[in-house]
Amino acid sequence: MSGIYIHIPFCKQACYYCDFHFSTNMQNKQHMVEAMKKELILRKEYLIDDKIETLYFGGGTPSLLDQPALTSLIDTVKTHYQLDPEAEITLEANPDDLSMEKLKELKELGINRLSIGIQSFDDQILSYFNRAHDSQMARQSVADAQEVGIENISIDLIFGVPNQSLVQLKKDLKSALALQTPHISIYGLTIEEDTVFGRWERQNKLTPLDEELASQHLQLIMDRLENAGYEQYEISNFSLPGYRSRHNSSYWAGTHYLGIGPAAHSYDGDSRQFNIAHNAKYLKALAQDTFPAEKEILSREEKITEMILTQLRKKEGLSLKSLKGDLGYDLHKERGAKLKDFQEEGLTLCLDEILTLTQKGKLLCDWITEELIP
Ligand code: SF4
Repeated sequence: MSGIYIHIPFCKQACYYCDFHFSTNMQNKQHMVEAMKKELILRKEYLIDDKIETLYFGGGTPSLLDQPALTSLIDTVKTHYQLDPEAEITLEANPDDLSMEKLKELKELGINRLSIGIQSFDDQILSYFNRAHDSQMARQSVADAQEVGIENISIDLIFGVPNQSLVQLKKDLKSALALQTPHISIYGLTIEEDTVFGRWERQNKLTPLDEELASQHLQLIMDRLENAGYEQYEISNFSLPGYRSRHNSSYWAGTHYLGIGPAAHSYDGDSRQFNIAHNAKYLKALAQDTFPAEKEILSREEKITEMILTQLRKKEGLSLKSLKGDLGYDLHKERGAKLKDFQEEGLTLCLDEILTLTQKGKLLCDWITEELIP
C-alpha cells in the first residue's frame, strides 16, 4: 500500500503566515501540469508493484486547477500506477474557488474527499491572515459541497492567533461544528521566519499568543470536539467514526509515498527525496527529462526521531516494542527517568509497551517528544 502526493505550487495571494512553496504568478500553470505528468511517468518505478490507496492534491492551491488539468493528472496516475478503484482521492481547496459548477466537476472527476482551507470564521482574523475568502464564502462552500454529494469533507482551522481570545475561539468552534463536516484539522499558528508575520514579529508589530493561553485554546478545542463526538486520532486531527484521513494516517504509519511537483517529498522507508522548491528550475529540469531532487539516506537516529515524533502524536501511541525491535532503541534504558517523571506527572500512560499522551500530556507534546528523542 502506497500513496501519491501532487503539489500544486500556485496561490492567488500569499497568506501572511504561510511558508509553503507556492507562486502567485500563474503564467506557467499549464506547463507545470505537463511537467508533473512527465515526472509521474519518469518516476513510476518508485512505487512499482505497489497498490496506490491514496492520491492527494496539496499545495499551494490545487482548486486553482481546471477540470482538464486535473483530469489529465488523474489519468496519468491511472495509466502508469495501480490506482486502487477504492482509493481516497483528496483535493485541498480554498472556499473562494468552490463554485457549484466547480464542485460538480470535482465530484465527476472522482475527487472523493475535500480538504477546505477555512482557517477561521472570524472575518477580522481572515483579513489579518490575508485570506482570499470571508466567513460567508467559507460556510457556503461547505454547504454547496454537501449539496453536490461530497460528504467526506475536512475543514482546516487555525488557533493561537495573536490577540485571539477564548471567546473568539469558542465562536469559531461553534461555527465549525454547525457545518457537521466529518473531519476537522486544527493547527496552532506558528510564526515562520520567511513570512509577513515573521517580519512583523522582528519589527515588534506582532506578538505571538502567550504559551499558557495557547494551551488553554488547545484544551478548549479538545473538550469541544470530543463532546461533539469527534475522535482526536492525532494531535491536530479530529474525525467522526470512519472518517480518519487515510492519506495522513498512512504517512504517520510510515507507508511509502511518492511526491510529485516542486517542493514535494518522497519516502521509500530508507530515504527521503526532496524536489527542488523552485518552479522555474523544476520546469527547466523536466524539460530535459530529469527531475531535480536531493536524496537523503535516513540515519538510525533520524528514523528513531521520526518514529517517536509521529507515533506519539497519534491516539494509538508509540510502540516501545517496535522502537526496540525495529530500531534497537530501548526507551526504558535510554530515557527511563524521563518516562517515570512523565508518568508521575500524569503526562503519559504506558500500557503493554504502548506509550500514549494523556490530555494533559497532549498540551506538552512537542516538549515531551524533545525529551525522548536521541
Ligand atoms: S495558506 Fe494555502 S492559500 Fe494561503 S498562501 Fe499558503 S498554500 Fe496558499
